Amino acid sequence: MTYQAQNNRYDTMIYNRSGRSGLKLPAVSLGLWHNFGGIDVYENGKEMIRRAFDLGITHFDIANNYGPPAGSAEENFGRLLKEDLSAYRDEMIISTKAGYYMWPGPYGEWGSKKNLIASLDQSLKRLQLDYVDIYYHHRPDPNTPLEETLGVLDLVVRQGKALYVGLSNYSPEDTRRAAEILRRLGTPCLIHQPSYSMLNRHVEKQGLLDVLEEEGIGSIVFSPLQKGILTDRYLNGISSDSRAAGPSIFLRPEELTEQTMDKVRRLNNLAAERGQKLSQMALCWVLRGGRVTSALIGASRVSQIEDAVGALDKLEFTDEELKQIEDILAS
Ligand code: NDP
Repeated sequence: MTYQAQNNRYDTMIYNRSGRSGLKLPAVSLGLWHNFGGIDVYENGKEMIRRAFDLGITHFDIANNYGPPAGSAEENFGRLLKEDLSAYRDEMIISTKAGYYMWPGPYGEWGSKKNLIASLDQSLKRLQLDYVDIYYHHRPDPNTPLEETLGVLDLVVRQGKALYVGLSNYSPEDTRRAAEILRRLGTPCLIHQPSYSMLNRHVEKQGLLDVLEEEGIGSIVFSPLQKGILTDRYLNGISSDSRAAGPSIFLRPEELTEQTMDKVRRLNNLAAERGQKLSQMALCWVLRGGRVTSALIGASRVSQIEDAVGALDKLEFTDEELKQIEDILAS
């Protein structure tokens, strides 16, 4: 049946401005790293994207290498856009990235002009789009001058292949240098995509969030649920349909240590006292204080997207709750 988006889709979502730009992003965005590839059930991905859009999630985050196989998440999303969402293209923010390994030989990864131009052209073909909204350099390249990499980001905006540009996994120091170069080129950095969760606080400790605030760059934080650990998923062991049980090398059962799971159980109790699920409290926590533009979640089923959006009903923390979280994390 032809998809018709819900009329009330903008009623409850919160939209935050990305740094000092004109672009607003939903407080919760959906990433297609897992569960949208060629090995996954296409119809499930389709249901998740439809539901997300109906709940006001306007931003979908992809990369050249998402799948598996690499490229298949873009292909599936392109197909879905055509089948379902082409009428809504102007209501959507679609990002892609390049920098990680994509094809063999010296030009298939990192940050050269050769890699970044070819990769974006391939992505646009797979997505069946003329342009993406945000093009990211996915990881810093220690062997290519920043000027070359950032010159490409500026170029693709001028060519109309991307509207905005972003950086991912850059250190605070490299981000500051990159922001300066991009400003000089006339294509300011829209956004930075680092990892951040209650169990992974490098953006606070190393000062990245401070740099982003000073430079007027937005932030979209990936794996805010620590890949599923900060949910009720693993409270009673590892179920066979979870990421930790699956083929992904990015969450192995060894990460679910007794010490971590003890914290997760105590955080889960605290979330229940707040009237939330742990996954919801974990999202509210990264969004606390307004320093983060968007929490970039993954999902394997529609109910997880509904949980995430439901978190926005109770964003605020009391000082006492924040202290209790700090105590649990420090234990
Ligand atoms: P999360 O930390 O949000 O983990 C998502 C996983 O948590 C889901 O796949 C699901 O796992 C589980 N989950 C989600 N909601 C619930 C819930 N309500 N209850 C129980 N379990 C839940 O993020 P990801 O690690 O998936 O990363 C999100 C996005 O960030 C990616 O899709 C990608 O776009 C981006 N990213 C960017 C990177 C970069 O280098 N720039 C690197 C990594 C990610 P399960 O499958 O077990 O159900």
